[in-house]
Amino acid sequence: MEVIIEGKVKTVYQGDDSQQVIIEYHDKVTAGNGEKEDHPLGKGSLCCSISALIFEKLAKELIPTHYINMVGANKMICKKVDIVPLEVICRNRAAGSIVRETTLNEGQPLPQPIVEFFLKDDSKHDPLLTPDRVRLMGYDPKPFIEMTLRINDILRSLFYILGIDLVDFKVEYGYDAHGDLYLADEISPDSMRLWKIGGEERFDKDLFRKDEGDIVPAYRQILDKLQPLAVT
Ligand code: 5GP
Repeated sequence: MEVIIEGKVKTVYQGDDSQQVIIEYHDKVTAGNGEKEDHPLGKGSLCCSISALIFEKLAKELIPTHYINMVGANKMICKKVDIVPLEVICRNRAAGSIVRETTLNEGQPLPQPIVEFFLKDDSKHDPLLTPDRVRLMGYDPKPFIEMTLRINDILRSLFYILGIDLVDFKVEYGYDAHGDLYLADEISPDSMRLWKIGGEERFDKDLFRKDEGDIVPAYRQILDKLQPLAVT
């Protein structure tokens, strides 16, 4: 298969149809801009299956996503889109970079969800962007903010039912050949913070980032909890 993009933990191949790609999720996890790396067995298929379930759930709520279907355990066929070089982050509570870079405390609830933009460029260490900078890069922030807040509402309710607090998450978007906007990339515990409601348990990549536990059993718990809610 022709490789289109070799990412840190995924490879994107050209699909048989020129308007489709195949995304392969590897048994690999990285942190700190690739400085830390591990190869946990089964992680690729867990992230692929969780992403697929979440994309299906969002599609049912009329969010346009690039996801078409899964092929095998760790690959999905997706619509080909031009990825916007922005990491769009939504936060419900303070954690991670917002705690490091502001006076907010870890776990502090935000009065309302916020959406932030980061440049998707590892060589520049993904800096935080202002809305003006996003506009200067040629993108109107409004549709990204609106769609991300809708996704947040859907996912927050979904995880709440499962006893999990959606602290924050990162999404990426792309445009198809007609200029229509689609949710792209992945949504998995690699790109979210998931905290047990009323407990200390964590189910996301922070376990790896902070050396606090194994991600595979944690991600498996998320898949097991999501599976009964799968769209039929
Ligand atoms: P933070 O800004 O606190 O580092 O990240 C906020 C949220 O976005 C977290 O859930 C984190 O996992 C996710 N996130 C931020 N940057 C990246 C990234 O480059 N890759 C992935 N997979 N997730 C990211």
